[in-house]
Amino acid sequence: MRIEIDEHSGCCHGVRRAIEQAEKVLNDRGTLFSLGAIVHNDTEMDRLRQKGLLTIGYDDLKKLRDTVVLFRAHGEPPAVYDIASGNNITVVDCTCPVVLQLQKKIASTYQEISPMGGQIIIFGKNGHAEVNGLIGQVSGEAIVIEKVENLSEIIALGKIDLTKPIALFSQTTKDPQQFLQLGELLRTAVLEACGDDSRLSIFNTICRQVSSRHPNLIEFAKGHTIIIFVCGKESSNGKILSQLCRSVNPRTYSVEHHNEIDPNWFSEDDFVGICGATSTPKWQLEEVANYLKNI
Ligand code: SF4
Repeated sequence: MRIEIDEHSGCCHGVRRAIEQAEKVLNDRGTLFSLGAIVHNDTEMDRLRQKGLLTIGYDDLKKLRDTVVLFRAHGEPPAVYDIASGNNITVVDCTCPVVLQLQKKIASTYQEISPMGGQIIIFGKNGHAEVNGLIGQVSGEAIVIEKVENLSEIIALGKIDLTKPIALFSQTTKDPQQFLQLGELLRTAVLEACGDDSRLSIFNTICRQVSSRHPNLIEFAKGHTIIIFVCGKESSNGKILSQLCRSVNPRTYSVEHHNEIDPNWFSEDDFVGICGATSTPKWQLEEVANYLKNI
């Protein structure tokens, strides 16, 4: 059985940077609070916990005083920074620069279009930390669309005024094809409503580190007889990318840890491809590869 790790897999730049900063502070202080899980990956979180990282929630943050708290790559809304400064908390701000730029763009676009009754639409997951950080830039004045097929219902309910300026953005980890589809459906609806789409702005804000993985992964999954996709159960990016692999290679198995692997999945002449989400560190892919070499 041959085994290959996808060279393009591993944590994205934003998550890697947050983990590195956490490790640096942990080496200096021995302990550090993190507001939410730095990475949607229990195995990596266990490793960081052993180094002294304590994950807290928003209620905990309100009670903490005079300490140090890490804000993860997903970003936070302004209200959370206010809580931190009111409680004399030093923030280790690991907001990914890509997310930071998106937050700023949403805030400035909202200032521009809201006086004309314009609306911000975000293609993203309700309740996801990044989306909370994005809608926090506009005091919650944004419409979140989770799935392309939800658009018609939202329009039918009159939640979007198609005759006013509209700016469409995306959560950084959404599926690029679905975002394109949503943009085109929205454009068609605007044209039907007022015959002019000049007030519709579509900003493709999907992170390049995510969108470039799609074509790479399709080729990788096609080029192997079986795929082991390593990611945390809570990773939304992992769900999208593993499904992408499965669409071209039905023998795709998602696992979080090598102990979930069943040796019966493999035959001797298999060429196994190991890949993962933007929250899967390289060491975990290597661990799975080493395990497979020994079965
Ligand atoms: S996926 Fe992109 S935007 Fe999101 S944390 Fe990683 S590098 Fe940043």
